[in-house]
Amino acid sequence: MLKKPILFTPGPTPIPPEVSLAEATPMIHHRTPEFSRIIYELKDDLKHLFQTQEGEVYTFSSSGTGAMEACVANLLTKKDKALVILGGKFAERWVELCEAYGVKTATVDVKYGEAVEPAAVEEALKKNKDIKVVFATQCETSTGVLHDIESIAKVVKKYSALLVVDAITGVGVHPLLMDAWGVDVAVTGSQKGCMIPPGLALLAVRPTAWEAIEKADLPRYYWDLRKMRDTLKKDTTPFTPAISLVRALKVAVDMIKKEGLENVWQRHAHMAHATREAVKALGLELYAQRPCNILTAVKAPKGLDVEAFLKRLKNEYGIWFAEGQEEMKGKIFRIAHVGYMNDFDILTAVSAVERGLYEAGYPVEIGKGVATAQKCLLKGEIPKEAKKKPVPAPL
Ligand SMILES: *Cc1c(COP(=O)(O)O)cnc(C)c1O
Repeated sequence: MLKKPILFTPGPTPIPPEVSLAEATPMIHHRTPEFSRIIYELKDDLKHLFQTQEGEVYTFSSSGTGAMEACVANLLTKKDKALVILGGKFAERWVELCEAYGVKTATVDVKYGEAVEPAAVEEALKKNKDIKVVFATQCETSTGVLHDIESIAKVVKKYSALLVVDAITGVGVHPLLMDAWGVDVAVTGSQKGCMIPPGLALLAVRPTAWEAIEKADLPRYYWDLRKMRDTLKKDTTPFTPAISLVRALKVAVDMIKKEGLENVWQRHAHMAHATREAVKALGLELYAQRPCNILTAVKAPKGLDVEAFLKRLKNEYGIWFAEGQEEMKGKIFRIAHVGYMNDFDILTAVSAVERGLYEAGYPVEIGKGVATAQKCLLKGEIPKEAKKKPVPAPL
Protein backbone atom coordinates (compact mmCIF):
# COMPACT_ATOMS: atom_id res chain seq x y z
CA MET A 1 0.00 0.00 0.00
CA LEU A 2 1.13 3.55 -0.62
CA LYS A 3 2.55 4.72 2.64
CA LYS A 4 1.01 7.99 3.83
CA PRO A 5 2.52 8.86 7.17
CA ILE A 6 0.05 10.00 9.80
CA LEU A 7 1.24 10.81 13.30
CA PHE A 8 -1.13 9.59 15.97
CA THR A 9 1.67 10.23 18.46
CA PRO A 10 1.46 12.53 21.48
CA GLY A 11 4.06 14.84 20.04
CA PRO A 12 5.12 15.55 17.43
CA THR A 13 1.65 15.97 15.93
CA PRO A 14 0.51 16.73 12.36
CA ILE A 15 1.22 20.23 11.09
CA PRO A 16 -1.42 22.28 9.19
CA PRO A 17 -0.16 23.24 5.70
CA GLU A 18 -0.54 26.96 6.39
CA VAL A 19 1.77 26.54 9.40
CA SER A 20 4.38 24.75 7.28
CA LEU A 21 4.18 27.53 4.72
CA ALA A 22 4.78 30.18 7.38
CA GLU A 23 7.95 28.33 8.29
CA ALA A 24 9.12 28.23 4.70
CA THR A 25 8.96 31.99 4.09
CA PRO A 26 12.33 33.75 3.65
CA MET A 27 14.20 34.40 6.87
CA ILE A 28 13.93 37.77 8.55
CA HIS A 29 16.12 39.23 11.27
CA HIS A 30 14.76 39.21 14.80
CA ARG A 31 15.85 42.73 15.74
CA THR A 32 13.33 44.30 13.40
CA PRO A 33 9.95 45.99 13.78
CA GLU A 34 8.53 43.18 11.66
CA PHE A 35 9.53 40.47 14.14
CA SER A 36 8.72 42.59 17.20
CA ARG A 37 5.23 43.00 15.80
CA ILE A 38 4.78 39.21 15.88
CA ILE A 39 6.03 39.02 19.46
CA TYR A 40 3.72 41.85 20.42
CA GLU A 41 0.69 40.23 18.84
CA LEU A 42 1.51 36.83 20.28
CA LYS A 43 1.48 38.20 23.84
CA ASP A 44 -2.30 38.37 24.06
CA ASP A 45 -2.80 35.23 21.99
CA LEU A 46 -0.65 33.16 24.32
CA LYS A 47 -2.20 34.63 27.44
CA HIS A 48 -5.54 33.55 26.01
CA LEU A 49 -4.22 30.03 25.48
CA PHE A 50 -3.23 29.81 29.15
CA GLN A 51 -6.29 31.79 30.24
CA THR A 52 -4.37 34.39 32.13
CA GLN A 53 -4.87 38.14 32.01
CA GLU A 54 -2.58 38.82 34.96
CA GLY A 55 0.35 36.77 33.78
CA GLU A 56 2.78 36.81 30.89
CA VAL A 57 3.89 33.97 28.63
CA TYR A 58 7.59 33.56 27.82
CA THR A 59 8.78 31.64 24.78
CA PHE A 60 12.01 29.65 24.94
CA SER A 61 13.70 27.92 22.02
CA SER A 62 13.73 24.41 23.44
CA SER A 63 11.56 21.37 23.82
CA GLY A 64 8.99 21.34 26.61
CA THR A 65 11.46 19.99 29.14
CA GLY A 66 13.45 23.22 28.84
CA ALA A 67 10.52 25.15 30.28
CA MET A 68 10.22 22.57 33.06
CA GLU A 69 13.88 23.11 33.88
CA ALA A 70 13.31 26.87 33.82
CA CYS A 71 10.60 26.44 36.45
CA VAL A 72 12.95 24.64 38.81
CA ALA A 73 15.87 27.02 38.21
CA ASN A 74 13.75 30.14 38.69
CA LEU A 75 11.46 29.33 41.57
CA LEU A 76 13.59 27.62 44.19
CA THR A 77 16.59 28.13 46.42
CA LYS A 78 19.08 25.49 47.56
CA LYS A 79 17.31 25.27 50.91
CA ASP A 80 13.81 24.82 49.51
CA LYS A 81 11.76 21.69 49.29
CA ALA A 82 9.34 20.82 46.52
CA LEU A 83 6.40 18.44 46.38
CA VAL A 84 5.99 16.39 43.23
CA ILE A 85 2.72 14.68 42.33
CA LEU A 86 3.78 11.44 40.65
CA GLY A 87 1.86 8.98 38.46
CA GLY A 88 3.91 8.64 35.29
CA LYS A 89 7.12 9.20 33.38
CA PHE A 90 6.60 12.92 32.88
CA ALA A 91 5.74 13.61 36.50
CA GLU A 92 8.93 11.77 37.47
CA ARG A 93 10.85 14.26 35.36
CA TRP A 94 10.06 16.97 37.95
CA VAL A 95 11.87 14.89 40.57
CA GLU A 96 14.86 14.34 38.28
CA LEU A 97 15.05 18.05 37.52
CA CYS A 98 14.89 18.98 41.20
CA GLU A 99 17.61 16.44 41.94
CA ALA A 100 19.79 17.89 39.18
CA TYR A 101 19.57 21.27 40.94
CA GLY A 102 20.05 19.83 44.42
CA VAL A 103 16.49 20.64 45.52
CA LYS A 104 14.95 18.25 48.04
CA THR A 105 11.62 16.70 47.11
CA ALA A 106 8.72 14.99 48.80
CA THR A 107 6.31 13.05 46.60
CA VAL A 108 2.66 12.13 46.39
CA ASP A 109 2.77 8.60 45.04
CA VAL A 110 0.17 7.73 42.44
CA LYS A 111 -0.15 4.38 40.70
CA TYR A 112 0.39 4.40 36.93
CA GLY A 113 -2.97 4.71 35.22
CA GLU A 114 -4.58 6.49 38.17
CA ALA A 115 -5.23 10.16 38.87
CA VAL A 116 -4.14 11.80 42.10
CA GLU A 117 -6.72 12.33 44.83
CA PRO A 118 -6.61 16.01 45.82
CA ALA A 119 -6.91 14.82 49.45
CA ALA A 120 -3.58 13.03 49.07
CA VAL A 121 -1.98 16.32 48.02
CA GLU A 122 -3.46 17.98 51.10
CA GLU A 123 -2.13 15.24 53.34
CA ALA A 124 1.36 15.65 51.91
CA LEU A 125 1.22 19.42 52.39
CA LYS A 126 0.11 18.96 56.00
CA LYS A 127 2.94 16.54 56.65
CA ASN A 128 5.60 18.64 54.93
CA LYS A 129 5.12 22.16 56.26
CA ASP A 130 8.11 23.53 54.35
CA ILE A 131 6.97 22.96 50.74
CA LYS A 132 7.75 25.92 48.54
CA VAL A 133 6.52 24.61 45.18
CA VAL A 134 4.09 21.87 44.17
CA PHE A 135 4.84 20.34 40.78
CA ALA A 136 1.88 18.76 39.03
CA THR A 137 1.09 17.36 35.59
CA GLN A 138 -2.20 18.06 33.87
CA CYS A 139 -2.23 15.26 31.27
CA GLU A 140 0.21 12.49 32.10
CA THR A 141 1.04 11.56 28.53
CA SER A 142 2.76 8.31 29.52
CA THR A 143 -0.42 6.83 31.03
CA GLY A 144 -3.15 8.89 29.37
CA VAL A 145 -4.47 10.18 32.71
CA LEU A 146 -5.97 13.62 33.29
CA HIS A 147 -5.29 15.04 36.75
CA ASP A 148 -7.80 17.44 38.26
CA ILE A 149 -5.75 20.63 38.34
CA GLU A 150 -8.66 22.80 39.46
CA SER A 151 -9.12 20.73 42.64
CA ILE A 152 -5.38 20.45 43.22
CA ALA A 153 -5.10 24.24 42.95
CA LYS A 154 -7.84 24.66 45.57
CA VAL A 155 -5.83 22.54 47.99
CA VAL A 156 -2.48 24.17 47.26
CA LYS A 157 -3.97 27.63 47.76
CA LYS A 158 -4.66 26.80 51.43
CA TYR A 159 -0.93 26.46 52.00
CA SER A 160 1.76 28.95 51.18
CA ALA A 161 3.11 27.01 48.21
CA LEU A 162 3.21 27.81 44.52
CA LEU A 163 1.54 25.51 42.01
CA VAL A 164 3.48 24.73 38.84
CA VAL A 165 1.74 22.66 36.17
CA ASP A 166 3.24 20.67 33.33
CA ALA A 167 0.45 21.36 30.86
CA ILE A 168 2.62 20.35 27.93
CA THR A 169 -0.16 18.22 26.51
CA GLY A 170 -2.93 20.07 28.32
CA VAL A 171 -2.78 23.47 26.65
CA GLY A 172 -4.99 23.64 23.58
CA VAL A 173 -6.70 20.37 24.52
CA HIS A 174 -8.16 20.68 28.01
CA PRO A 175 -9.29 23.82 29.78
CA LEU A 176 -6.51 25.23 31.91
CA LEU A 177 -7.82 28.38 33.53
CA MET A 178 -4.71 29.77 35.17
CA ASP A 179 -6.22 32.91 36.69
CA ALA A 180 -9.56 31.40 37.67
CA TRP A 181 -8.05 28.28 39.23
CA GLY A 182 -5.01 29.95 40.75
CA VAL A 183 -2.24 28.14 38.89
CA ASP A 184 0.94 30.17 39.43
CA VAL A 185 3.11 28.82 36.63
CA ALA A 186 2.31 26.52 33.68
CA VAL A 187 4.32 25.23 30.76
CA THR A 188 3.70 23.75 27.36
CA GLY A 189 5.69 22.64 24.32
CA SER A 190 5.05 23.45 20.69
CA GLN A 191 4.70 19.95 19.23
CA LYS A 192 1.48 18.92 20.96
CA GLY A 193 -1.74 20.94 20.95
CA CYS A 194 -0.05 23.99 19.44
CA MET A 195 0.18 22.26 16.04
CA ILE A 196 3.71 23.39 15.18
CA PRO A 197 6.97 21.41 15.04
CA PRO A 198 9.02 20.71 18.19
CA GLY A 199 11.36 23.47 19.31
CA LEU A 200 9.41 26.02 21.33
CA ALA A 201 8.55 25.90 25.01
CA LEU A 202 6.02 28.30 26.49
CA LEU A 203 6.13 29.26 30.14
CA ALA A 204 3.25 31.23 31.66
CA VAL A 205 3.92 33.10 34.90
CA ARG A 206 1.34 34.85 37.05
CA PRO A 207 2.44 37.77 39.27
CA THR A 208 2.10 35.48 42.31
CA ALA A 209 5.32 33.70 41.30
CA TRP A 210 7.60 36.72 40.92
CA GLU A 211 8.65 37.02 44.53
CA ALA A 212 10.06 33.49 44.38
CA ILE A 213 11.70 34.19 41.01
CA GLU A 214 13.49 37.22 42.48
CA LYS A 215 14.68 35.25 45.50
CA ALA A 216 15.76 32.07 43.69
CA ASP A 217 19.47 31.32 44.03
CA LEU A 218 19.96 28.30 41.79
CA PRO A 219 22.26 28.72 38.78
CA ARG A 220 20.44 30.18 35.78
CA TYR A 221 21.53 31.96 32.67
CA TYR A 222 19.71 30.95 29.48
CA TRP A 223 16.62 30.07 31.52
CA ASP A 224 16.61 33.28 33.58
CA LEU A 225 13.03 34.53 33.59
CA ARG A 226 14.12 38.01 34.67
CA LYS A 227 15.88 38.44 31.31
CA MET A 228 12.77 37.16 29.54
CA ARG A 229 10.53 39.56 31.45
CA ASP A 230 12.71 42.59 30.72
CA THR A 231 13.03 41.88 27.02
CA LEU A 232 9.40 40.88 26.47
CA LYS A 233 8.42 44.33 27.73
CA LYS A 234 10.30 45.65 24.69
CA ASP A 235 8.73 43.07 22.35
CA THR A 236 11.93 41.19 21.92
CA THR A 237 13.91 38.24 23.33
CA PRO A 238 17.24 38.05 25.17
CA PHE A 239 18.78 35.64 22.65
CA THR A 240 18.15 34.69 19.02
CA PRO A 241 14.66 33.22 18.97
CA ALA A 242 13.60 30.30 16.76
CA ILE A 243 12.24 32.81 14.25
CA SER A 244 10.56 30.31 11.91
CA LEU A 245 8.83 28.52 14.75
CA VAL A 246 7.61 31.76 16.29
CA ARG A 247 6.10 32.74 12.93
CA ALA A 248 4.54 29.29 12.67
CA LEU A 249 3.14 29.68 16.17
CA LYS A 250 1.44 32.92 15.20
CA VAL A 251 -0.34 31.17 12.34
CA ALA A 252 -1.31 28.22 14.56
CA VAL A 253 -2.74 30.36 17.35
CA ASP A 254 -4.65 32.37 14.76
CA MET A 255 -6.23 29.09 13.65
CA ILE A 256 -7.11 28.29 17.27
CA LYS A 257 -8.62 31.73 17.75
CA LYS A 258 -10.64 31.39 14.56
CA GLU A 259 -12.05 28.05 15.66
CA GLY A 260 -12.51 29.37 19.20
CA LEU A 261 -10.60 27.95 22.16
CA GLU A 262 -13.78 26.56 23.65
CA ASN A 263 -14.54 24.73 20.39
CA VAL A 264 -11.00 23.39 20.29
CA TRP A 265 -11.49 21.91 23.77
CA GLN A 266 -14.84 20.42 22.71
CA ARG A 267 -13.39 18.96 19.52
CA HIS A 268 -10.77 17.12 21.53
CA ALA A 269 -13.38 15.87 24.02
CA HIS A 270 -15.48 14.63 21.14
CA MET A 271 -12.61 12.86 19.32
CA ALA A 272 -11.32 11.30 22.53
CA HIS A 273 -14.75 10.02 23.48
CA ALA A 274 -15.26 8.35 20.08
CA THR A 275 -11.82 6.73 20.26
CA ARG A 276 -12.43 5.35 23.73
CA GLU A 277 -15.84 3.94 22.80
CA ALA A 278 -14.43 2.38 19.62
CA VAL A 279 -11.57 0.73 21.48
CA LYS A 280 -13.98 -0.68 24.08
CA ALA A 281 -16.27 -1.95 21.31
CA LEU A 282 -13.30 -3.95 20.01
CA GLY A 283 -13.11 -5.68 23.38
CA LEU A 284 -10.03 -3.77 24.50
CA GLU A 285 -9.55 -2.05 27.84
CA LEU A 286 -8.48 1.49 28.61
CA TYR A 287 -5.37 1.91 30.73
CA ALA A 288 -6.24 5.25 32.31
CA GLN A 289 -8.88 5.41 35.03
CA ARG A 290 -9.45 9.10 34.39
CA PRO A 291 -8.58 9.41 30.71
CA CYS A 292 -7.40 12.66 29.18
CA ASN A 293 -8.49 13.88 25.76
CA ILE A 294 -5.07 14.02 24.16
CA LEU A 295 -4.57 10.32 23.79
CA THR A 296 -6.16 6.98 24.49
CA ALA A 297 -3.88 4.50 26.24
CA VAL A 298 -5.04 0.98 25.46
CA LYS A 299 -4.10 -2.14 27.41
CA ALA A 300 -2.53 -4.65 25.06
CA PRO A 301 -4.74 -7.73 24.78
CA LYS A 302 -3.22 -11.01 25.97
CA GLY A 303 -0.79 -12.50 23.55
CA LEU A 304 -0.40 -9.42 21.36
CA ASP A 305 3.20 -8.55 20.52
CA VAL A 306 2.73 -4.79 20.82
CA GLU A 307 6.08 -3.95 19.33
CA ALA A 308 5.43 -6.02 16.20
CA PHE A 309 1.86 -4.68 15.94
CA LEU A 310 3.03 -1.06 16.04
CA LYS A 311 6.00 -1.71 13.78
CA ARG A 312 3.81 -3.28 11.13
CA LEU A 313 1.33 -0.38 11.15
CA LYS A 314 4.20 2.06 10.88
CA ASN A 315 6.23 0.23 8.24
CA GLU A 316 3.41 -1.04 6.06
CA TYR A 317 0.92 1.80 6.31
CA GLY A 318 2.69 4.82 7.80
CA ILE A 319 0.35 4.86 10.80
CA TRP A 320 2.23 5.94 13.90
CA PHE A 321 0.88 5.08 17.33
CA ALA A 322 3.04 5.34 20.44
CA GLU A 323 4.16 2.40 22.53
CA GLY A 324 4.32 2.37 26.32
CA GLN A 325 7.33 3.98 27.97
CA GLU A 326 9.70 1.93 30.16
CA GLU A 327 7.68 -0.20 32.61
CA MET A 328 4.64 0.17 30.36
CA LYS A 329 6.49 -1.03 27.26
CA GLY A 330 4.74 -4.01 25.71
CA LYS A 331 1.75 -3.53 28.00
CA ILE A 332 0.00 -0.60 26.35
CA PHE A 333 -0.16 1.35 23.13
CA ARG A 334 -1.27 4.95 22.82
CA ILE A 335 -3.44 6.57 20.15
CA ALA A 336 -3.04 10.33 20.18
CA HIS A 337 -5.87 12.57 18.99
CA VAL A 338 -4.37 15.96 19.52
CA GLY A 339 -3.95 19.13 17.53
CA TYR A 340 -4.65 19.26 13.81
CA MET A 341 -7.20 16.44 13.71
CA ASN A 342 -10.86 15.93 13.03
CA ASP A 343 -13.49 13.17 12.96
CA PHE A 344 -12.05 11.52 9.87
CA ASP A 345 -8.64 11.17 11.44
CA ILE A 346 -10.30 9.30 14.29
CA LEU A 347 -11.91 6.89 11.83
CA THR A 348 -8.52 6.32 10.23
CA ALA A 349 -6.90 5.64 13.61
CA VAL A 350 -9.61 3.22 14.68
CA SER A 351 -9.58 1.39 11.36
CA ALA A 352 -5.81 1.04 11.65
CA VAL A 353 -6.20 -0.50 15.11
CA GLU A 354 -8.74 -2.97 13.70
CA ARG A 355 -6.58 -3.86 10.76
CA GLY A 356 -3.42 -4.18 12.81
CA LEU A 357 -5.13 -6.45 15.32
CA TYR A 358 -6.72 -8.52 12.58
CA GLU A 359 -3.40 -8.98 10.83
CA ALA A 360 -1.78 -9.91 14.10
CA GLY A 361 -4.31 -12.74 14.41
CA TYR A 362 -6.28 -11.16 17.23
CA PRO A 363 -9.98 -12.08 16.97
CA VAL A 364 -11.45 -8.74 16.04
CA GLU A 365 -14.72 -8.05 14.29
CA ILE A 366 -13.70 -5.84 11.38
CA GLY A 367 -15.76 -2.66 11.29
CA LYS A 368 -17.06 -2.80 14.84
CA GLY A 369 -14.72 -0.13 16.16
CA VAL A 370 -15.17 2.07 13.11
CA ALA A 371 -18.96 1.81 13.31
CA THR A 372 -18.91 2.71 16.99
CA ALA A 373 -16.63 5.68 16.42
CA GLN A 374 -18.69 6.86 13.47
CA LYS A 375 -21.90 6.74 15.53
CA CYS A 376 -20.33 8.69 18.40
CA LEU A 377 -18.93 11.25 15.99
CA LEU A 378 -22.22 11.62 14.12
CA LYS A 379 -24.10 12.22 17.33
CA GLY A 380 -21.50 14.71 18.41
CA GLU A 381 -21.17 12.81 21.67
CA ILE A 382 -18.81 14.09 24.30
CA PRO A 383 -18.17 12.80 27.81
CA LYS A 384 -20.31 14.15 30.63
CA GLU A 385 -17.48 16.06 32.34
CA ALA A 386 -16.75 18.01 29.16
CA LYS A 387 -20.33 19.21 28.96
CA LYS A 388 -20.07 21.75 31.72
CA LYS A 389 -18.17 23.96 29.36
CA PRO A 390 -15.78 26.30 31.09
CA VAL A 391 -16.03 29.49 29.15
CA PRO A 392 -12.68 30.93 28.19
CA ALA A 393 -12.17 34.57 28.98
CA PRO A 394 -12.30 36.62 25.77
CA LEU A 395 -9.10 37.91 24.25
C1 LIG B 1 5.85 15.74 25.69
C2 LIG B 1 5.78 15.97 27.15
C3 LIG B 1 6.87 16.46 27.89
C4 LIG B 1 8.23 16.61 27.34
O1 LIG B 1 8.38 17.45 26.38
P1 LIG B 1 9.67 17.51 25.44
O2 LIG B 1 9.16 18.47 24.44
O3 LIG B 1 9.92 16.15 24.89
O4 LIG B 1 10.79 18.02 26.23
C5 LIG B 1 6.69 16.72 29.22
N1 LIG B 1 5.51 16.49 29.82
C6 LIG B 1 4.45 16.00 29.17
C7 LIG B 1 3.20 15.77 29.91
C8 LIG B 1 4.55 15.72 27.81
O5 LIG B 1 3.51 15.21 27.15
